[in-house]
Amino acid sequence: MLQNSSILANDNLSVAPQAAPASVQKASLPPLQDAFGRTFDYVRIAVTDRCNLRCTYCMPEEGVEFKHKDSVLNAEETMRIISVLAKIGIKKVRFTGGEPTIRKDIVDLVAGAASTPGIKGVHLTTNGLLLHRYAKDLLNAGLTGLNLSLDSMDADRFMRITRRTGVNTVLDNIQLALDMGFPRVKVNVVLMRGFNEDELEKFTAYTKDHAVTVRFIEFMPFDAEQIWGSGDHFASAESIVARIHSLYPDVGPAPGTRTEHHIFKVPGWAGKIAVIPAFTRSLCGNCSRIRVTADGSIRNCLYSDDEYNLREVMRQGGTDDDMIALFRKAFADKAIDGYESKKRSDAKVSLSPHRGSMTQIGG
Ligand code: SAM
Ligand code: SF4
Repeated sequence: MLQNSSILANDNLSVAPQAAPASVQKASLPPLQDAFGRTFDYVRIAVTDRCNLRCTYCMPEEGVEFKHKDSVLNAEETMRIISVLAKIGIKKVRFTGGEPTIRKDIVDLVAGAASTPGIKGVHLTTNGLLLHRYAKDLLNAGLTGLNLSLDSMDADRFMRITRRTGVNTVLDNIQLALDMGFPRVKVNVVLMRGFNEDELEKFTAYTKDHAVTVRFIEFMPFDAEQIWGSGDHFASAESIVARIHSLYPDVGPAPGTRTEHHIFKVPGWAGKIAVIPAFTRSLCGNCSRIRVTADGSIRNCLYSDDEYNLREVMRQGGTDDDMIALFRKAFADKAIDGYESKKRSDAKVSLSPHRGSMTQIGG
């Protein structure tokens, strides 16, 4: 049995998580749906709440109240969740955090997820600083998509935003991922007024010769109450789209995922540009996401504080059916959209702890 004490890069975790036998993993049960007819087939699992950066839109310099390592799901528990979800039709897994590459067993997690029957895609969201250590093994393990976060190509700016150095390492690692032939390389840019809004053109121009999708993401109020409150830094998806059109009048539509509602390509360029309305929430009708926090709680919406403690169900000997029942309860409770989720959470005293940072929720 894997021990959840062995999660960080300094620890010695050598046992590869095993996917459960194929016989128990067929999606033979009704899919996971909510009261509004949406089907959920994509899980984002935070594998740690810790990180080697301190982005001003995410985590304060002093960090957040990190979960004790015993509270964080171990590899075996994570694999069990994936195999249970595969039974109810989940096809795509994204590992995120915190910074997922600070887990020494990240390659094993990817390999375990990729070999779970029913799982068709395994993706990773990372700040890219440690990618060179794991790139080859991640590719061999079956990673099918890589999102790298980079908010500035300028060293001073990078430092101002992340409070750490490393811009060239991230840029080199994006190139490395492309050179190695990683499928679906995307660059996440949280575009903020007063920080990096003026780099929209530079990031768009990056798609000329790089076969990446640059995704401009709206800033959301999950910054552990650092800079959102000033109201000075939010740039709307609508304003970003308008700027793209005025800078590049010949951009045309391109195919993208469900959240990449606004997606463009400059004719003849290698990559694409997308705009993600993460705050203005115009895509809730298409929501297909399940979130599991690093300490094993199910969240049915980024904007809801409601949590469903899956870790306790597992650790108290719950069966796979008990776990499925908790997922079904969580999604039966899901509100129609993120505005309604927020309204409901604001209106009641939540029994769950308020998580004010993306690193606590799982980005
Ligand atoms: N550490 C990894 C990374 O940065 O890619 C994975 C976790 S991070 C929480 C996942 C994504 O959430 C990143 O692309 C990050 O830029 C984004 N993010 C974090 N805080 C945000 C906020 N307040 N508003 C919008 N996006 C945010
Ligand atoms: Fe770390 Fe990612 Fe949060 Fe930045 S956005 S502090 S890299 S978890």
